[in-house]
Amino acid sequence: MIEVSKKCIGCAKCVPVCPFAAINMIDKKAVMNEACTLCGACVQVCPVQAITITREEASAKDFSGYKGVWVYVELTETGDKAQKKIKPVTFELLSAGRRLADELGEDLCAVLLTDKNHNYEKDLGAYGADKVYMVEHDELFEYNTDVFSTVIVGLVNRHKPSSMLYGATIQGRDLAPRVASTLYVGLTADCTALAIKDGLLLQSRPAFGGNIMADILAPNSRPQMSTVRPNVMKMAEPVLGRTALVVREPAKLDKSLRRVKVLERKIAHDAGAVKIENANIVVSGGRGMKTKEKFKQLEELSKLLGGVVGASRAAVDLGFKEKTHQVGQSGTTVSPKLYLSFGISGAVQHIVGMKASDVIIAVNKDPNAPIFNVAKYGIVGDAHEIVPKLIEALKKK
Ligand code: FAD
Ligand code: SF4
Ligand code: SF4
Repeated sequence: MIEVSKKCIGCAKCVPVCPFAAINMIDKKAVMNEACTLCGACVQVCPVQAITITREEASAKDFSGYKGVWVYVELTETGDKAQKKIKPVTFELLSAGRRLADELGEDLCAVLLTDKNHNYEKDLGAYGADKVYMVEHDELFEYNTDVFSTVIVGLVNRHKPSSMLYGATIQGRDLAPRVASTLYVGLTADCTALAIKDGLLLQSRPAFGGNIMADILAPNSRPQMSTVRPNVMKMAEPVLGRTALVVREPAKLDKSLRRVKVLERKIAHDAGAVKIENANIVVSGGRGMKTKEKFKQLEELSKLLGGVVGASRAAVDLGFKEKTHQVGQSGTTVSPKLYLSFGISGAVQHIVGMKASDVIIAVNKDPNAPIFNVAKYGIVGDAHEIVPKLIEALKKK
């Protein structure tokens, strides 16, 4: 329920920010009509805090009308400034979402906010989406917390999905909590597995420093919302030619909703370098590499293989490699075609960041090292003997 108190001074600042034309000024007071989706945008701009939204106790609600698994589509810039492309994490989430939607017997829907559609529905459909809820508007030319969260909250209130998934990226980690707090629902961050249990979304994520896996259910709120890091869910093979139904959604967006303006962009990393999360081959080392000099051999091996160097947290803490190369729970999640591990024990916090790799080869001198539990090929031996031999063999080739 939305209410305007006596504090209202009739300034009308709330009128243009409402994306749903739900506010009329009557007798110098704001009055909301039935188009209101409780998105909360007007609450943010009211200078005298005259607007309050009271949300129903979730447990008292009937959730039978909440249907559909939604995936937030994240777009990223390409060399061509005019055309953004869909981030791979979106396809990973659609692949996982397809499984969930099939089990529930519900639609899988992609939610796309953009200034211009570039036939995105083709790729979204190929990766499993039945429908694309698309909002096309000039104000959606770049991500903005206020604008994007307002639009998503409006869509959720209108269509009532049962679950919604976001990538645990910089954007997803900003957007999902804002949407969750506006809707007054829960959010499970950094899920490593998603399943259906008794019709509910079973969200699994590491807890207590990664030492246990917590299974989280949200029986008293809808949508059930999760973020999932890139490279955690396996991307399905696209079905070419399968497109999704586009449902165009209107949105009236006013500039005054945008409280943050981007004045300048600076790229902080080397644009030419392959980022560890996108690498096909990762050559990782741990404390067992012993010194920074010995760790450098992995750089040579990685270069010969055309890969990128990864590191355990212990190796990073010892200064063998920069933090940007750390693989694991508090580093980056990777899923290369080949993951080579040298002198890494295989602590759970490391494993969660690389277990989705296609082929894992581990070298460790301890036959009981846990890394061997996830490795396809395990070599019990001394990394300091094996790495130089591998380099030599590759150089000969
Ligand atoms: P160790 O566990 O010390 O293992 C070294 C291994 O090298 C041993 O198995 C040993 O047998 C082997 N070895 C020694 N000499 C040789 C040799 N000559 N040849 C071959 N093998 C040899 N860790 C991460 O990696 N990433 C994370 O993101 C991360 N996040 C964390 C978050 C939290 C909240 C916490 C509490 C911990 C986190 N950790 C993380 C730390 C993690 O628990 C482990 O401490 C860390 O992964 C250990 O790194 P390691 O395997 O290199 O070292
Ligand atoms: Fe409009 Fe949202 Fe305010 Fe409702 S809560 S009146 S939809 S801005
Ligand atoms: Fe009233 Fe606040 Fe709207 Fe101004 S912004 S008209 S004070 S409710």
